Amino acid sequence: MPSLNDIRSTFLNFFERNGHRVVDSSPLVPRNDPTLMFANSGMVQFKNCFTGVETRDYKRATTAQKCVRAGGKHNDLDNVGYTARHHTFFEMLGNFSFGDYFKNEAIPFAWELLTKDFDIPKDRLLVTVYHTDDEAAAIWKKVAGLTDDRIIRIPTNDNFWMMGPTGPCGPCTEIFFDHGDKIWGGPPGSADEDGDRFIEIWNLVFMQNEQHPDGSMTPLPSQSIDTGMGLERIGALLQGKHDNYDTDLMRALIEASAHATSSDPDGPGKTHHRVIADHLRSTSFLIADGVMPSNEGRGYVLRRIMRRAMRHAHQLGAQDPVMHRLVPALVRQMGGAYPELQRGQALIEETLRLEETRFRQTLDRGLKLLEDEVSGLGEGQALPGAAAFKLYDTYGFPLDLTQDAAREKGLAVDTEGFDAAMAEQKAKARASWAGSGETKDAAIWFDLAEQHGATEFLGYDTETAEGQV
Ligand code: ATP
Ligand code: MG
Ligand code: MG
Ligand code: MG
Repeated sequence: MPSLNDIRSTFLNFFERNGHRVVDSSPLVPRNDPTLMFANSGMVQFKNCFTGVETRDYKRATTAQKCVRAGGKHNDLDNVGYTARHHTFFEMLGNFSFGDYFKNEAIPFAWELLTKDFDIPKDRLLVTVYHTDDEAAAIWKKVAGLTDDRIIRIPTNDNFWMMGPTGPCGPCTEIFFDHGDKIWGGPPGSADEDGDRFIEIWNLVFMQNEQHPDGSMTPLPSQSIDTGMGLERIGALLQGKHDNYDTDLMRALIEASAHATSSDPDGPGKTHHRVIADHLRSTSFLIADGVMPSNEGRGYVLRRIMRRAMRHAHQLGAQDPVMHRLVPALVRQMGGAYPELQRGQALIEETLRLEETRFRQTLDRGLKLLEDEVSGLGEGQALPGAAAFKLYDTYGFPLDLTQDAAREKGLAVDTEGFDAAMAEQKAKARASWAGSGETKDAAIWFDLAEQHGATEFLGYDTETAEGQV
């Protein structure tokens, strides 16, 4: 059975054999790209190659790219623990053509790798195309011999890929694997497509447009290819598993979590272990790439993910900080492919240990408050915004952590009430500042700071603000 490490190599070797340059993953924090918080796909480091701003000494590339999807246009934070296929951190395997080959070669490459090198039975695969893309549909029919009912036309943005609010984009074709009728879910485009029976494994994007900040879309100077396949998803499939979290690599992390918390990896705390394993990867890789926990911007996204994981460890009964103790297992699994983990190991461990030590000082009391608040609520009701704000302000619970905790009990959180409480506190702070006898200048400075702060604060969970981070 191939390990995830083997599968990564098979992919890169296949495309290297087919004339592609093997390029390293870029760091998670995009260089010189204010429109994006974290690399969320393989194309990010090649953005300028698609737009023609930059040329390199190769026209075909292949990568295994570190991705984090915990904010902005692609946000999977709330899916973790609930679906079989989503992580906040994952590796995206990709092949790229910069004005070189297009649909006619990209589709046969993908089909050959999947059905020959990976030996996946053809009758378990189906594809989607953008509804107007007759060309792609015809190529699939010819190359793969797929019947029309296995080439599904999708009219929505699911088949028009965009990195973020701006940038190169285009129609795409996606390849799905059918995990069989024991698992709930319908084919893409159907009413129950969100189930996990038909799992999207690979997306081939036909890069041909650029979306601009003013809302217009123009053609790119040339037609290019950008593909992305989740290593964990293809890994699950090739290891005969349905669930990403049952792959060798994720399983090792789940077992480390179970060991560190003296609990059963498959018992009632199963979801907690999955979340911890996932968040261990995203937080460790972010720290290795230079992000440190803070109260704004990227650092706050990191802090939110860390604290979410720490609450899950607490739910498993952990009496002491846990996360830093899992780092060696991660380094064992992934330090070979990503040496930055080895180099950063001490920093990662110390950052996790300090943050968890600090957060644990208020976590117990915060959770007690949360318990008291929810005890009077019935299923489907919402935790009052004022309580969520107190948890945020006094106990250091990011809003989404409170939502995550409430969701376990079938409850929502009144986010409007939370926002109102936040606004009220800011107004109070402003009033006391104005009343302190400072000059008008100070009030202006305060406004600026608040504006700036607000931009950063919104940046990780609203689409429009992502461009301002
Ligand atoms: P989904 O519809 O399942 O959320 P997606 O359409 O958002 O996936 P793409 O943006 O097309 O995903 O990314 C390309 C590939 O990366 C996907 O086909 C999948 O294999 C993988 N992938 C995407 N998001 C995740 C994730 N959160 N965790 C693991 N793999 C992912
Ligand atoms: Mg998605
Ligand atoms: Mg999709
Ligand atoms: Mg997709």
